[in-house]
Amino acid sequence: MAKIFCVANQKGGVGKTTTAVNLAAGLAQLKQRVLLVDLDPQGNATMGAGINKSELEASVYEVLLGMSDIKTARKTSDTGNFDILPANRELAGAEVEMVELDNREKRLKDAIALVTDEYDFVLIDCPPALSMLTLNGLCAAHGVIIPMQCEYYALEGLSDLVNTIKKVHAKLNTDLKIIGLLRVMFDPRMTLSQQVSAQLEQHFGDKVFKTIIPRNVRLAEAPSYGMPGVTFDPSSKGAQAYIAFGAEMVERIHSM
Ligand code: ATP
Ligand code: MG
Repeated sequence: MAKIFCVANQKGGVGKTTTAVNLAAGLAQLKQRVLLVDLDPQGNATMGAGINKSELEASVYEVLLGMSDIKTARKTSDTGNFDILPANRELAGAEVEMVELDNREKRLKDAIALVTDEYDFVLIDCPPALSMLTLNGLCAAHGVIIPMQCEYYALEGLSDLVNTIKKVHAKLNTDLKIIGLLRVMFDPRMTLSQQVSAQLEQHFGDKVFKTIIPRNVRLAEAPSYGMPGVTFDPSSKGAQAYIAFGAEMVERIHSM
């Protein structure tokens, strides 16, 4: 049975999609069977996995609204060696359209349940908001991976996310926990990065992943080739870090 993880942070541009796509590809390299769910109308994870978001017959949108099923809508990323439930702009409409539906927070959970025996990991790339879509992600997951940049404002907003996770845990999904904070876009030459990183370790202890993802331009270049950085330049520092993070996640699920 797959372990299901959301990659979430309501702040925009903090590295959620880069983490979701490269962790998926890194886990695939470690022979794990992975499904990546793109839960963001921006469709960045879809494009980054090499799937053209403007040519989808079905997407996560149709699945959430019950107009298609997950086995029909999922695709395979040839550049990442994982499956993906893709998304595009249509998904923005789901927020409003789901309001009328029964069990609206658990539509994604119910959809994923049909395929969990086919995967070791399901990763969900959440949009930068604490919205109905993110709520669907949190209700479907066993845990949350929170990517963070080690900058002055990093901790601001974290308490909103933590409170949301606590509420979801209490009311909707008792399985849910914070798996860990992942330091991303890390620049070891900056004293501030070092300081914030040390602060995170002090406050959150073993909830901070050991792996640190450095700032690495190859990770930023890869999506324009429809490739995860891990595939695009496997020897780059960024790719190596995401593969190490994959190994850390495999270790974590054995102790869950
Ligand atoms: P959004 O909130 O819009 O969904 P996001 O949190 O998913 O954004 P990304 O799209 O992953 O963030 O990253 C934001 C930008 O930073 C992108 O241009 C990405 O290529 C770049 N980026 C992410 N991680 C790294 C890294 N480790 N090194 C260099 N650039 C990075
Ligand atoms: Mg994103």
